Amino acid sequence: MKLRTTAALLALMLTSSAPLAQQGPGSDNARIETFKTSVTSGVEARRKLAQVMTDTVFSFGELAYQEFETSKYLTDLLEKNGFAVERDIAGMPTAWVARWGSGHPIIALGSDIDCLPKANQKPGVAYRDEIVPGAPGHGEGHNSGQAVNIVAALAVKELMEREKLSGTLMIWPGVAEELLGGKAYMVRAGIFKDVDVVLYSHVGDNFSTAWGKPTGTGMVSVEYTFEGESAHAAGRPWRGRNALRAVELMNIGWDLNREQLRPDQRSHYVITNGGDQPNVIPSLASVWYFFREMDFENIKKNYEIGNKIAEAAAAMTDTKVTRKVVGVAAPRHFNRTLAETMQVNIDKVGMPQWTDEEQTFAKAVQRLADGKEDGLPKTVKKLDGPAAKPESGGSDDIGDVSWVAPTVIMRYPSNIPNLPGHNWANAIAMATPIAHKGVVAGSKVMAMTMVDLLMRPELIQGAKTYFTDVQLKKEKPQQLLADTDMPQVQLNRDTMARFRPEMRKFYYDASKYETYLDQLGVKFPTLAKGQ
Ligand SMILES: [Zn+2]
Repeated sequence: MKLRTTAALLALMLTSSAPLAQQGPGSDNARIETFKTSVTSGVEARRKLAQVMTDTVFSFGELAYQEFETSKYLTDLLEKNGFAVERDIAGMPTAWVARWGSGHPIIALGSDIDCLPKANQKPGVAYRDEIVPGAPGHGEGHNSGQAVNIVAALAVKELMEREKLSGTLMIWPGVAEELLGGKAYMVRAGIFKDVDVVLYSHVGDNFSTAWGKPTGTGMVSVEYTFEGESAHAAGRPWRGRNALRAVELMNIGWDLNREQLRPDQRSHYVITNGGDQPNVIPSLASVWYFFREMDFENIKKNYEIGNKIAEAAAAMTDTKVTRKVVGVAAPRHFNRTLAETMQVNIDKVGMPQWTDEEQTFAKAVQRLADGKEDGLPKTVKKLDGPAAKPESGGSDDIGDVSWVAPTVIMRYPSNIPNLPGHNWANAIAMATPIAHKGVVAGSKVMAMTMVDLLMRPELIQGAKTYFTDVQLKKEKPQQLLADTDMPQVQLNRDTMARFRPEMRKFYYDASKYETYLDQLGVKFPTLAKGQ
């Protein structure tokens, strides 16, 4: 507590003294305000681009590690706009980094790009309607974050060129975030080595930022494969060693073990291979676990218990077990100086003006999903500090980035509140005016925050001071990846190959249609079937 106060005071002192010394009272602030107006107009001027990017990535609907169309589209666009792009990085063919400018500060803008299995859904209609049945879809809204960042970066780049401001803009994607499978590898590859600050945008149903440890967990995602011996399940069962039984014993062991775990843990599994057919004793079987906990120590501890139970299950069935880490996520810690800077801009931009039609539509979708029917929020959230008693919940591998550079999250208002999450209902708004307006609002905040960071070096210093003197003093990050763990880029390859030919017919063609809704023939808002 004491350290935090000291750091905050120091940042405050630096903030108030530096501009005065350089420019005389007020003049620097006036310049910053002029620049903010200028980047805000720059974002407004790119409203069409924001919509096209959001809709295009929505129509690609690509699963973790298979974001090939998305990455090609985004990197081509960035190259056309003067960014230098490095592709196929950190062992992931769909990962990339784009840079423009020179010198410090290096501001890294990130956002996720992958989607979810079976979440395919027509946007703008308040009922279940798949475009391609069974296909993946943007049931979280990861189609919108790169539009937020890129539009903001282009507006800021324009200002930097005009005003000859020094600094580097770096744009990078969260690959395979839905598998917690990308960012730790990007960190390990040194992508963030020289970065001064990271601004991360994530779709939300309100407008907010936060500092400190948010609600949620970190985790290890690991698949255990048991190997036994096949035999005729009726004729010679005594000749077999049953790998599926090992999976079942492991799951029973883990489930009984839950009683001895801290209430904050979250763990879940799916059986990824349960054998081939009943009359063959399964020689191979696999189960995939997520072990989530609140801090590094407990994440590692539960992962080790899992390993022990797996070994025990193998011993009981005379099978062999191997394991493969599929992903990891460090617990998150967001930067106070960056969050406070961003919040001022969120307050200034405010919520988009929602129309009555958008509100009616949002309530119809909430009714459809059995959520509270309170429509779209009209006011932004206050700045969130660390929870007094942190609550358990989901994970995001931005946590890994947050331990190598001062990092902040912005949640922009592109989706509808009170939906289940990781669900087709969460895709409904994501290529409609609701998403588009949220993207533009988010983009303005990103651009204004970049102006602050480019113009006020004391903010970068304040962010670094918080990072080293508060965050790293409070908790020491631990390595969750072993050196031998590699991105599992083959995941989802078959699924995507199966659906892509049909999905391709529905890719958004911005040269022919004003919006993706137009292309699909959806009249927005459509509240009921056959309306
Ligand atoms: Zn996400």
